[in-house]
Amino acid sequence: MYSKELIEKLTKILAPSGYDKRQDSEARYPARSLPDGAIVTRSAPSPTGFVHIGTIYMSLINKLVSLQTQGVNMLRIEDTDKKREIVDGIKTIVNGLGVFDLRADEGVEADSTSYGDYGPYLQSQRDKIYLGFAIDLLEKGRAYPCFATAEELDENYKDQQANKVRPGYYGKWAVWRDRSEEDVLAALEAGKPFVLRFKSNGSHEKRIKFKDVLKGSLELPENDLDVPLIKNDEWRLPTYHLAHVVDDFLMGTTTILRGDEWLPSTPLHIELAEALGIKPFSYAHFAPISIIDKGNKRKLSKRKDPEADVSFFIAAGYPIMAILEYLIRLANSNFEDWRNENPAKPIWEFPFSFEKWAKARGALLDLQKLDDVSKNIIAGWPQADYEQAVRAWAEQFQPIFYSALKADPEYTSKVLAVERTGEQKRKDVAKIVDTPSQYGYFFDDLYNSIFAVEAAIQLEDFETSVVADACKAFLDSYNQADDQQTWFDKLKAAAEATDFATDNKAFKENPSNFKGNVADFARIIRVKLTGKNRTPDLWTIMKVMGPERVKNRLSL
Ligand code: GLU
Repeated sequence: MYSKELIEKLTKILAPSGYDKRQDSEARYPARSLPDGAIVTRSAPSPTGFVHIGTIYMSLINKLVSLQTQGVNMLRIEDTDKKREIVDGIKTIVNGLGVFDLRADEGVEADSTSYGDYGPYLQSQRDKIYLGFAIDLLEKGRAYPCFATAEELDENYKDQQANKVRPGYYGKWAVWRDRSEEDVLAALEAGKPFVLRFKSNGSHEKRIKFKDVLKGSLELPENDLDVPLIKNDEWRLPTYHLAHVVDDFLMGTTTILRGDEWLPSTPLHIELAEALGIKPFSYAHFAPISIIDKGNKRKLSKRKDPEADVSFFIAAGYPIMAILEYLIRLANSNFEDWRNENPAKPIWEFPFSFEKWAKARGALLDLQKLDDVSKNIIAGWPQADYEQAVRAWAEQFQPIFYSALKADPEYTSKVLAVERTGEQKRKDVAKIVDTPSQYGYFFDDLYNSIFAVEAAIQLEDFETSVVADACKAFLDSYNQADDQQTWFDKLKAAAEATDFATDNKAFKENPSNFKGNVADFARIIRVKLTGKNRTPDLWTIMKVMGPERVKNRLSL
């Protein structure tokens, strides 16, 4: 234990412009008064890059469980690592959460100001609060200054490697842990910088038991690391460990939902809370969103996988609701049944269950499944919403398609309505990025530059004269006013007139007697008009295109 004078000296250096005494902070943030069972959650991203899909996953579940229990859900920005912070990092997170309808009850705005009674929610603005708790630990003999340089720590590490022992600052490697007051004073006098370290009482040989909301009863080695609590940079900001314990204590978080990469640090956090006389937290460590890569399951990589960044999904034009519903399914697979039984209910009414999440087999991102969820959502949109979504997406991501959509709004509306109503609702659009390929051929500019070329390639198996004759024969009798049956009868007659078989049996017996069958004939017309082998119903397409366009394309 250091003398009062030394503690005062250290305090002055740690907090040259003062700090908030621990008791004052506790008085400033009284316990929340909430109904029994209310869950208080927080999402705590760091503003170091794009919005990770995992942040959306976590914030979504935080919101669901807090809403359902009349609790509170917070957004805390963990910006204590000033070196990793990026320009507009906070704005990116706040706006990203907003796009996903995940604005927190309390938290940070895009301009970095805080709202809510337990703020500020930006950690760098809470520096004086953390210092108060760090100094409390110093006074209790549970923290000490460490003057070891980066080189010395590196030496330590190399030594540990050479001796094949566990790395870290503990035991005999904790070189400043039991240093005399004189040593500390001498280092201070020499103006050496220091970090404030935790003085752990744990032993790696002993085990600590705790209960995780998702992982159940766990047993891990006790913490024995004297981790830094306050860094020695110009801001004197805390490390994640101290900041987490202090904030979640003062903010009244009841359930700490965080990625399971934090599980190994949990014994440390438990010990830190204990040293501060804080009731242990309830942790829910969840498995990160993963993908299958070369047959193996692995965590989404920030650097390697575009799907880690939510902009990937936005640029593809997935409906926000599809992403949210899909993410809920990853945690609670019974969401699908609930949705089928309650097609119109907002997702916020889904009874999310930690128990079910605990049994889920890890969050494996499967874009095929997301597409399925998304197709149904898009198919269920009112026509006006669909059109609006296509236009808005195209304006942002595909200017050429957008110009085509804008040129003739009435025609565009008809195009976008093809097979979206009635019995045979199409479900071939899973994300708006699919629309240029599904509808692009309707628009002449796009047809001429892309789909006509495609048509020529697709029809290479027919002689040019066969294609030309078929088109001509079809056009000779084509009348825009014909009903579907008449239209088909005429198509058949045109096929017969140009030596395509209308009798499939005859065709099968003697294919060389014919140019093809009716299906082949129809394919020629379809591909000539659209550049595609598979399209919505051809009669409907022609009705929308109008006689001029049909004639032009079939005469090319
Ligand atoms: N800022 C931490 C991270 O991004 C938060 C961890 C937590 O939720 O406590 O990993």
